[in-house]
Amino acid sequence: MVTNVFPEGPWESWTEDQCVEALRQSRWPNGFRCPVCHYLHCSVIRTRKHPLYVCSSCRHQTSVTAGTVMHGTRTPLRYWFRAMQWIGDESTSVDLAEILGVTYKTAWLIGHKLRDALTLEADDIKLAGSVAVTGGVYGWRCYSSLITEPTDQPIVIGAEMDGEDVQFVKLVQMDPRLAGKSRLLTRYVYDVFSEYHVEAEFKTVKTFAYRGMRSLRPLSAVLTHAINWFDHTLQGLGPKHLQAYLNHQSFVFNFSRSRKQMQSHLLRLCSYIRSITYRELTQEKRRYINDCRAA
Ligand SMILES: [Zn+2]
Repeated sequence: MVTNVFPEGPWESWTEDQCVEALRQSRWPNGFRCPVCHYLHCSVIRTRKHPLYVCSSCRHQTSVTAGTVMHGTRTPLRYWFRAMQWIGDESTSVDLAEILGVTYKTAWLIGHKLRDALTLEADDIKLAGSVAVTGGVYGWRCYSSLITEPTDQPIVIGAEMDGEDVQFVKLVQMDPRLAGKSRLLTRYVYDVFSEYHVEAEFKTVKTFAYRGMRSLRPLSAVLTHAINWFDHTLQGLGPKHLQAYLNHQSFVFNFSRSRKQMQSHLLRLCSYIRSITYRELTQEKRRYINDCRAA
């Protein structure tokens, strides 16, 4: 279990030094380690906004934010820490901009960088044990038709179950070409999901087709909750950033029992995952983790 190193009390009282120290502890829990030569000793230059660590062996200089999600940021670290709390609120970038007193663009970028860290982690996670799978189509424009629209996005949710209780979820935006022309997801879509996102040694995979979602309410409730957040709070999502928000939603669900653990875990991720740039965020085309073999 990672120790919670977040500053205590209301965020307005956090100092930049407290946040630097929390990030330093999270990045080097066993003390400084040079990113180049792995030497364990350094000298510290404290004349800048954030301390600069100079390796005593190879003289490489590194800051506490170098190589992290906060790499190169001009935004104070205490704002980033507050944003790590905001992730659990399921609110909007407009809300974050208001809380921090920054521009919408800055808040939007911070949110996406944090989500990118969640996405990189989620890409590596495979479900294990007793797994249940169901799904649906996001973006229905015309409810009376079962024929897919170009804007439809099939989403599959897989969960590690303890009896009827959902323990851990993974939400995945599937390649629309897999779903074909029908809005009812077929077993094939679930099979592709299982192949990529469930460990080979799983115990059981129970599949619930969309129309059969009522048979496993706890699981479909997570998906419905996510879709309501997308539509009612975020005013709808396009395909490009949908997976990032699905990862955001899975993360919030998986840590819903403890906000402190949620923050510690996100801080830990942020301290070793390299930042995505604004250019990468805005130019990157949607990548599907799963292949499309139906094309
Ligand atoms: Zn070194």
